[in-house]
Amino acid sequence: MNEYDTDKMLKVLQGDNYTYTEKTDDADLIILNTCSVREKAEQKVYSLLGRLRPLKDKNPNLVIGVGGCVAQQEGRNILDRAKTVDMVFGTDNLFDLPEMLEDVRQGNRVLQTERKAYKQKVRNFIPDFTFENTSTPGVKSYLSITKGCNNFCTFCIVPTTRGLEVSREPENILLEAQSLVSQGTKEICLLGQNVNSYRANGMDFVDLLYHLNEIQGLERIRFTSPHPKDFNEDLANALKNLDSVCEQLHLPLQAGSDQVLRRMKRRYTLAQYLEKVDLLRAKVPHATISTDMIVGFPGETDADFQKTLEAIEQVRFNQIYAFKFSIRPGTPAGNYDGQVEEAVKVERLRTLLETQERIVKDIQNELMGSEQEVLVEGAYPREPESRAGRSRGHHSVVIRNTDAKVGDLLKVRITGAKKYSLEAEPMVA
Ligand code: SF4
Repeated sequence: MNEYDTDKMLKVLQGDNYTYTEKTDDADLIILNTCSVREKAEQKVYSLLGRLRPLKDKNPNLVIGVGGCVAQQEGRNILDRAKTVDMVFGTDNLFDLPEMLEDVRQGNRVLQTERKAYKQKVRNFIPDFTFENTSTPGVKSYLSITKGCNNFCTFCIVPTTRGLEVSREPENILLEAQSLVSQGTKEICLLGQNVNSYRANGMDFVDLLYHLNEIQGLERIRFTSPHPKDFNEDLANALKNLDSVCEQLHLPLQAGSDQVLRRMKRRYTLAQYLEKVDLLRAKVPHATISTDMIVGFPGETDADFQKTLEAIEQVRFNQIYAFKFSIRPGTPAGNYDGQVEEAVKVERLRTLLETQERIVKDIQNELMGSEQEVLVEGAYPREPESRAGRSRGHHSVVIRNTDAKVGDLLKVRITGAKKYSLEAEPMVA
């Protein structure tokens, strides 16, 4: 989501006559787009701001801005603590950058964290978005369809930093998707904190997928993250029936114990989650499934953790994004009894990753000799005749002996595996 927002900021700024530079020393404007999902986010922001101070001393006209979730949360504190900062803006305010910068040029320090109506903002943005003079989007692009979340899981800061859930108008989403495809995008990943609860102008998430599937030249559609409670048969059918929708699902489980899931306020039990997995696999037997897991949630016992291990053995996820629980200030779980000792969390994370590594090896072995379609995303370092890409199941694949170009869709045969990727040879037609 932050990558997507950063891209939007770049486009807004290009429309305001800024150009992008890789060199911090050359910049007239530096924006830190911050994220508070991971631990110690504010400290990291202040430490980076400290490191930028010498640049400001050298170039007093340098403008420094802080945007994103930490800015939304901290607001004025950032202006008070970091005197080098000229503007602080929230997650809804990136489209106001030109006005904020004008304000800074007038000698003011700017704070803009007001919540804005998503629909209004997007409607205003679309005419600018289709301008031709911006950088070409990649072969893979993100597209935000909802923002915010109404779920209030007890460990999560998102509903505070990004606000309540709002769905974007389908007309604007389809326009943006068409614009991306006309500029070379082959794969779009739809973004939302709870992407499958999308609903706007009488259209739900599955309706939207059907419309996107009609776009000529859009070869692949993915989405992240769906909430298990909103995964239903219609969505499983869309994964089965729509050519562009990849047979891949990221379905966050978070824990295998019902006691822990209840305290997390995840709104499903393990059995209900497993029913969704069965539903998908009944329709699309070769679908890949990845997940998010938290270990060491307050009150998690050894027996609870054992249930997490059993769950991952049962589902056989292709990939797990696993984290130790850490407190987000202002979230209920931060005040829960039963905080788990750090050493226990470390050990549980190690055990989980070890178990998962074994499962991934087994899955990779099963894929040996199989045919896959890979979207070529780029060169492979130090091997001129190799290319890197992703299969429809989102496996990272290195293809040997090919001169394929970025954006090509290649049929390959899997010939080997490394820890984080598969190796393949092109299939001869
Ligand atoms: S559904 Fe996701 S974004 Fe929403 S509160 Fe829960 S963890 Fe956070």
